[in-house]
This record gives sequence, structure tokens and C-alpha cells, in this order.
Amino acid sequence: MSLFTVIDVKSEKRTQFIDITASVRECLAGSGVSEGVAVIFVPHTTAGITINENADPSVPGDIIAGLARLVPESGDYQHAEGNSDAHIKASLMGSSVTVIIKEGQLLLGTWQGIFFCEFDGPRKRKAWLNITAA
Ligand code: ZN
Repeated sequence: MSLFTVIDVKSEKRTQFIDITASVRECLAGSGVSEGVAVIFVPHTTAGITINENADPSVPGDIIAGLARLVPESGDYQHAEGNSDAHIKASLMGSSVTVIIKEGQLLLGTWQGIFFCEFDGPRKRKAWLNITAA
């Protein structure tokens, strides 16, 4: 058994990490699945997804600042759209995460949350969630 859901995400800044853990948990609760896996996939080329600490908001802030140091907004880029840094950062974060479902819960570490990573906002975005029962 497999359940597909679209999670709508609205970013408000050019670069922003949006914690979507609660949305994923809500969909999981509604699915009634107790054992399996959840795949969350971001169908965008200038946004990504990552799992990291959501207890201290400084952590996503530091990741955003670190990515900005690694990949400056302007540089020797060829892509005419002018958002090459966003494409590179999206690839660094990746397009999907997989989380184990155990006893009806997302098996995340104590301090872990799932972040939608916006790199070319503000925009209306989405994440695809597929919950598969074991
Ligand atoms: Zn582009």
C-alpha cells in the first residue's frame, strides 16, 4: 500500500529553510500506516530538501550562511537566468529524503527536522510525499 500527498510550501525570502516536519507527521497520521517508509521529494531545480536540527533556529541560519560562503550569488556563471547559485545549492542539499516509519511515527533523531530548502524564492512550491507501508 502506498499513499501519495502533495505538501504545499510558500517561501517568503530568496533563501529560506522551511520546517515541514509537522506537515509530514500530519499526513502520516492520516495515512494510518504504522510500519514503512516515507519519501519526500522536491520537484524543483532551485529548491532542495535536507534533514538537520530544528531545535535551535541558528542551525538552519548557519547552514544558509555556510552555503552562501561556498556558493556566492554572483560569480563566473554561464546560465542566463542568473540563479546559478540556487541551482548549485539545490544540488548540494539534494531532491529527496527517506525516513523510516516505526509504530506510526517518523523515526527521526531527537533534534532532527525535515527542511524544505528554498534558494530562489519567494515562490509557491511543493514537496511530494509518498508513504509506503511495509
Ligand atoms: Zn535557472
